[in-house]
Amino acid sequence: MAAQSEKTGAGRSARFLKALLSAAMILPVGCARRGETAAKPNPLLMGTSMEILVASPEASRHSEYDAAARATVRRLESMVSIYSPTSAIAALNRQAGRGPVRISSDAIMLLHLSRKYGRMSDGAFDVTVGPLVQLWGFSGGSIPAALPGEDAIKQRLALVGFQNILIQKDKAFLGREGMKVDLGGIAKGYAVDVVWSELRSRKARDFMVNLGGNMRCSGQPESNRFWRVGVRNPFDRTATLGAIDLRDGMSVSTSGNYERFVTIADERYAHIIDPRTGRPVRGMAGVTVVSQSACAADAMSTAFFVLGVDDGIKILPQCPPGTEVLFVPDRQPVEVTMTAGMAKLFTVTPGIAVRIL
Ligand code: AMP
Ligand code: MG
Repeated sequence: MAAQSEKTGAGRSARFLKALLSAAMILPVGCARRGETAAKPNPLLMGTSMEILVASPEASRHSEYDAAARATVRRLESMVSIYSPTSAIAALNRQAGRGPVRISSDAIMLLHLSRKYGRMSDGAFDVTVGPLVQLWGFSGGSIPAALPGEDAIKQRLALVGFQNILIQKDKAFLGREGMKVDLGGIAKGYAVDVVWSELRSRKARDFMVNLGGNMRCSGQPESNRFWRVGVRNPFDRTATLGAIDLRDGMSVSTSGNYERFVTIADERYAHIIDPRTGRPVRGMAGVTVVSQSACAADAMSTAFFVLGVDDGIKILPQCPPGTEVLFVPDRQPVEVTMTAGMAKLFTVTPGIAVRIL
């Protein structure tokens, strides 16, 4: 998740391009036209790119907002990165089964929220999947030469369980040795919320924060009543499935199988692990969630990606009002399945089949 040190310009630009492509899973549509200013390409944050769009009445303050946002995300990244040995989360993982670690209030809040979305999703979202994420070659793990065997999966599954994240005031403890927290499914959304609140407290009114496709908007753009966000077609990176209109304060996030994957024995495996099986999720190409906070949208898009349509519907009543979901099953011809509330926000691209739940 962290931006690792990049020694060559070529490495840097390849990584930046990858981040832009991944960020383009959902993208503000037509927002950077006359009246809104977008950030120029900048160094990666949390392994991806960030942009702040500001509507024209406040455009002169864009660089101030942008600099503040970058400083905030860098600060949070240094806290949650599992790549940086000095981060709070790396320390927590090292001390798993040994002893509690005192960590910052943001890191504590992230763990509280991780447990909350873990409960809300009946365990489909579980930040303690770290050992499995690495077994399958993600988040610093090396790509296995052959498919991981049943025993290796079982061993690591035994370490998974957000119930074993214990929190007391400013200290956290992972109850079992070998446990590993991986905040890759929630930290970007959390960072977007922190940035969003900071910009609002600077009296910014009409803006959009986009960190690698985790977005939260405020007010409205100059050119439109709503901030409009395109949802990429997972089967055709040059096309969109449609666009979502976001009202003041709303967030959107997408989890996709085309975003990060490994190839093992000629098969592609995506980076989201089903904590029930210990294996990468199959059957979903993408899930987009609209919610009241970017953190909820981020965590729950990962959760609904794991659950799929049938199990996903079952947990909807547990989600806060305003949570809307769009599923893109991994089969062609493409058909999108969405909640009725999502259908009200969504303008479908002509020719795309839609099923409303
Ligand atoms: P996202 O792109 O937001 O869906 O997050 C995916 C990332 O979250 C992965 O790259 C892993 O770091 C982590 N992750 C994978 N599976 C899960 C899961 N079931 N619950 C929580 N985090 C996960
Ligand atoms: Mg997520």
